[in-house]
Amino acid sequence: MDTTPGYPTLRIVTHPLVQHKLTILRDRETPTKIFKELVDEIAMLMAYEATSDLQLEMTVVETPLERTHGRRVTGKKLTLVPILRAGLGMVEGIYRLVPTARIGHIGLYRDHDTLEPVDYYFKVPSDAAERDFIVLDPMLATGGSAAAAVLSLKRAGATRIRFMCLVAAPAGVKRLAAAHPDVVVYCAALDRELNDLGYILPGLGDAGDRLFGTR
Ligand code: URA
Repeated sequence: MDTTPGYPTLRIVTHPLVQHKLTILRDRETPTKIFKELVDEIAMLMAYEATSDLQLEMTVVETPLERTHGRRVTGKKLTLVPILRAGLGMVEGIYRLVPTARIGHIGLYRDHDTLEPVDYYFKVPSDAAERDFIVLDPMLATGGSAAAAVLSLKRAGATRIRFMCLVAAPAGVKRLAAAHPDVVVYCAALDRELNDLGYILPGLGDAGDRLFGTR
Protein backbone atom coordinates (compact mmCIF):
# COMPACT_ATOMS: atom_id res chain seq x y z
CA MET A 1 0.00 0.00 0.00
CA ASP A 2 1.42 3.42 -0.96
CA THR A 3 1.18 6.83 0.66
CA THR A 4 1.44 9.98 -1.48
CA PRO A 5 3.21 13.23 -0.53
CA GLY A 6 0.65 15.99 0.00
CA TYR A 7 -2.18 13.50 0.68
CA PRO A 8 -1.63 12.38 4.28
CA THR A 9 -5.00 10.61 4.59
CA LEU A 10 -4.67 8.65 1.33
CA ARG A 11 -3.62 5.00 0.98
CA ILE A 12 -3.29 3.63 -2.55
CA VAL A 13 -3.70 -0.13 -2.86
CA THR A 14 -1.00 -1.04 -5.38
CA HIS A 15 -1.48 -4.82 -5.33
CA PRO A 16 -0.94 -6.14 -8.89
CA LEU A 17 -4.34 -7.85 -9.03
CA VAL A 18 -6.11 -4.64 -8.00
CA GLN A 19 -4.22 -2.62 -10.60
CA HIS A 20 -4.83 -5.22 -13.34
CA LYS A 21 -8.56 -5.36 -12.63
CA LEU A 22 -8.80 -1.56 -12.44
CA THR A 23 -7.39 -1.30 -15.96
CA ILE A 24 -10.13 -3.59 -17.30
CA LEU A 25 -12.67 -1.55 -15.34
CA ARG A 26 -11.52 1.65 -17.02
CA ASP A 27 -11.92 0.16 -20.52
CA ARG A 28 -14.99 1.65 -22.19
CA GLU A 29 -15.61 -1.71 -23.94
CA THR A 30 -15.98 -3.64 -20.66
CA PRO A 31 -19.60 -4.84 -20.50
CA THR A 32 -21.88 -4.31 -17.50
CA LYS A 33 -21.65 -7.90 -16.24
CA ILE A 34 -17.84 -7.88 -16.17
CA PHE A 35 -17.78 -4.33 -14.76
CA LYS A 36 -19.99 -5.42 -11.87
CA GLU A 37 -17.85 -8.50 -11.18
CA LEU A 38 -14.66 -6.43 -11.22
CA VAL A 39 -16.00 -3.80 -8.81
CA ASP A 40 -16.97 -6.64 -6.49
CA GLU A 41 -13.53 -8.30 -6.73
CA ILE A 42 -11.53 -5.09 -6.35
CA ALA A 43 -13.59 -4.07 -3.32
CA MET A 44 -12.87 -7.44 -1.71
CA LEU A 45 -9.13 -7.20 -2.37
CA MET A 46 -9.04 -3.63 -1.09
CA ALA A 47 -10.95 -4.59 2.04
CA TYR A 48 -8.09 -6.91 2.95
CA GLU A 49 -5.86 -3.83 3.17
CA ALA A 50 -8.46 -1.52 4.68
CA THR A 51 -9.08 -3.88 7.58
CA SER A 52 -5.40 -4.56 8.32
CA ASP A 53 -5.45 -2.49 11.53
CA LEU A 54 -8.63 -3.88 13.09
CA GLN A 55 -8.10 -4.61 16.79
CA LEU A 56 -7.53 -8.22 17.82
CA GLU A 57 -7.95 -9.97 21.18
CA MET A 58 -6.57 -13.25 22.42
CA THR A 59 -8.93 -16.21 22.61
CA VAL A 60 -8.75 -19.92 23.28
CA VAL A 61 -9.76 -22.51 20.69
CA GLU A 62 -10.13 -26.31 20.89
CA THR A 63 -8.58 -27.97 17.85
CA PRO A 64 -9.47 -31.64 17.26
CA LEU A 65 -6.21 -32.41 19.13
CA GLU A 66 -5.77 -29.88 21.91
CA ARG A 67 -6.56 -26.47 23.31
CA THR A 68 -4.54 -23.55 21.89
CA HIS A 69 -4.49 -19.76 21.69
CA GLY A 70 -5.86 -17.79 18.78
CA ARG A 71 -6.78 -14.23 17.99
CA ARG A 72 -10.06 -12.76 16.86
CA VAL A 73 -11.32 -9.33 15.88
CA THR A 74 -12.65 -7.53 18.97
CA GLY A 75 -15.69 -5.44 19.51
CA LYS A 76 -18.90 -4.87 17.60
CA LYS A 77 -19.29 -5.97 14.00
CA LEU A 78 -17.67 -3.92 11.23
CA THR A 79 -20.27 -1.83 9.41
CA LEU A 80 -20.21 -1.17 5.66
CA VAL A 81 -22.02 1.96 4.51
CA PRO A 82 -22.51 2.22 0.75
CA ILE A 83 -23.45 5.64 -0.58
CA LEU A 84 -26.41 5.03 -2.90
CA ARG A 85 -26.35 3.96 -5.57
CA ALA A 86 -22.88 3.15 -6.91
CA GLY A 87 -21.54 2.19 -3.47
CA LEU A 88 -23.87 -0.83 -3.53
CA GLY A 89 -21.58 -2.46 -6.08
CA MET A 90 -18.81 -2.72 -3.49
CA VAL A 91 -20.81 -4.35 -0.69
CA GLU A 92 -21.02 -8.04 -1.65
CA GLY A 93 -17.31 -8.50 -2.27
CA ILE A 94 -16.41 -7.13 1.15
CA TYR A 95 -19.24 -9.05 2.77
CA ARG A 96 -17.76 -12.31 1.47
CA LEU A 97 -14.53 -11.44 3.26
CA VAL A 98 -16.25 -10.22 6.45
CA PRO A 99 -19.53 -12.16 6.62
CA THR A 100 -20.32 -10.82 10.10
CA ALA A 101 -20.40 -7.22 8.80
CA ARG A 102 -23.48 -5.07 9.27
CA ILE A 103 -24.65 -2.94 6.36
CA GLY A 104 -25.96 0.62 6.67
CA HIS A 105 -27.07 2.85 3.79
CA ILE A 106 -26.75 6.53 2.97
CA GLY A 107 -28.69 8.19 0.14
CA LEU A 108 -27.70 11.73 -0.84
CA TYR A 109 -29.08 14.31 -3.25
CA ARG A 110 -27.74 17.70 -4.21
CA ASP A 111 -29.87 20.65 -2.99
CA HIS A 112 -30.72 22.84 -6.00
CA ASP A 113 -30.23 26.10 -4.11
CA THR A 114 -27.18 25.43 -1.98
CA LEU A 115 -25.67 22.76 -4.30
CA GLU A 116 -24.70 20.94 -1.11
CA PRO A 117 -25.45 17.23 -0.57
CA VAL A 118 -28.37 16.44 1.76
CA ASP A 119 -29.11 12.92 2.97
CA TYR A 120 -32.58 11.63 1.99
CA TYR A 121 -31.93 8.20 3.48
CA PHE A 122 -29.78 7.28 6.45
CA LYS A 123 -29.83 3.99 8.30
CA VAL A 124 -26.97 2.55 10.34
CA PRO A 125 -26.85 0.35 13.47
CA SER A 126 -27.90 2.30 16.56
CA ASP A 127 -24.70 1.71 18.56
CA ALA A 128 -22.54 3.65 16.09
CA ALA A 129 -20.06 4.87 18.70
CA GLU A 130 -18.85 1.32 19.32
CA ARG A 131 -18.33 0.29 15.69
CA ASP A 132 -15.78 0.56 12.90
CA PHE A 133 -17.32 1.91 9.67
CA ILE A 134 -16.20 1.73 6.06
CA VAL A 135 -18.03 4.19 3.79
CA LEU A 136 -18.17 2.91 0.19
CA ASP A 137 -18.35 4.87 -3.06
CA PRO A 138 -16.42 3.83 -6.18
CA MET A 139 -15.64 7.42 -7.18
CA LEU A 140 -14.28 10.10 -4.83
CA ALA A 141 -14.82 13.05 -7.17
CA THR A 142 -15.53 16.48 -5.60
CA GLY A 143 -15.64 14.98 -2.12
CA GLY A 144 -18.97 16.67 -1.37
CA SER A 145 -20.97 13.46 -0.94
CA ALA A 146 -18.14 11.74 0.91
CA ALA A 147 -17.77 14.59 3.41
CA ALA A 148 -21.55 14.75 3.92
CA ALA A 149 -21.80 10.98 4.44
CA VAL A 150 -19.00 11.04 7.02
CA LEU A 151 -20.64 14.00 8.77
CA SER A 152 -23.94 12.11 8.99
CA LEU A 153 -22.15 9.13 10.48
CA LYS A 154 -20.36 11.30 13.03
CA ARG A 155 -23.67 12.93 13.99
CA ALA A 156 -24.97 9.40 14.62
CA GLY A 157 -22.05 8.89 17.03
CA ALA A 158 -19.46 7.15 14.83
CA THR A 159 -15.83 7.87 15.66
CA ARG A 160 -13.93 5.21 13.70
CA ILE A 161 -14.61 5.76 10.00
CA ARG A 162 -12.66 4.73 6.90
CA PHE A 163 -13.56 5.63 3.31
CA MET A 164 -13.05 3.24 0.41
CA CYS A 165 -13.27 4.14 -3.27
CA LEU A 166 -11.81 2.72 -6.46
CA VAL A 167 -10.72 5.98 -8.12
CA ALA A 168 -10.05 9.27 -6.33
CA ALA A 169 -9.59 12.79 -7.68
CA PRO A 170 -7.10 15.13 -5.96
CA ALA A 171 -9.86 17.65 -5.20
CA GLY A 172 -12.02 15.02 -3.52
CA VAL A 173 -9.24 13.65 -1.36
CA LYS A 174 -8.30 17.18 -0.27
CA ARG A 175 -11.89 18.21 0.51
CA LEU A 176 -12.55 15.09 2.55
CA ALA A 177 -9.25 15.46 4.40
CA ALA A 178 -9.96 19.13 5.17
CA ALA A 179 -13.39 18.29 6.61
CA HIS A 180 -12.44 14.99 8.25
CA PRO A 181 -8.67 14.61 8.73
CA ASP A 182 -9.28 11.51 10.88
CA VAL A 183 -10.76 9.52 7.98
CA VAL A 184 -8.26 7.39 6.06
CA VAL A 185 -9.13 7.01 2.37
CA TYR A 186 -8.32 3.76 0.55
CA CYS A 187 -8.31 3.87 -3.25
CA ALA A 188 -6.90 1.88 -6.17
CA ALA A 189 -5.83 5.02 -8.08
CA LEU A 190 -5.39 8.74 -7.59
CA ASP A 191 -6.36 10.19 -10.97
CA ARG A 192 -5.40 13.52 -12.57
CA GLU A 193 -8.36 15.88 -12.21
CA LEU A 194 -12.09 16.55 -12.53
CA ASN A 195 -13.68 17.79 -15.75
CA ASP A 196 -16.27 20.60 -15.86
CA LEU A 197 -19.08 18.13 -15.17
CA GLY A 198 -17.37 16.71 -12.11
CA TYR A 199 -16.23 13.47 -13.77
CA ILE A 200 -12.83 12.09 -12.86
CA LEU A 201 -10.19 12.09 -15.62
CA PRO A 202 -9.09 9.64 -16.87
CA GLY A 203 -11.54 7.86 -14.53
CA LEU A 204 -13.90 5.14 -15.68
CA GLY A 205 -17.05 7.10 -16.51
CA ASP A 206 -20.27 7.06 -14.51
CA ALA A 207 -19.77 4.17 -12.09
CA GLY A 208 -23.49 3.89 -11.23
CA ASP A 209 -24.53 3.73 -14.89
CA ARG A 210 -21.83 1.23 -15.76
CA LEU A 211 -22.70 -0.95 -12.75
CA PHE A 212 -26.43 -1.02 -13.34
CA GLY A 213 -26.54 -0.70 -17.14
CA THR A 214 -28.46 2.58 -17.13
CA ARG A 215 -26.23 4.43 -19.55
N1 URA B 1 -19.14 9.78 -10.27
C1 URA B 1 -18.90 8.86 -11.23
O1 URA B 1 -19.61 7.88 -11.33
N2 URA B 1 -17.85 9.06 -12.05
C2 URA B 1 -17.03 10.13 -11.96
O2 URA B 1 -16.09 10.24 -12.74
C3 URA B 1 -17.31 11.08 -10.96
C4 URA B 1 -18.36 10.88 -10.12
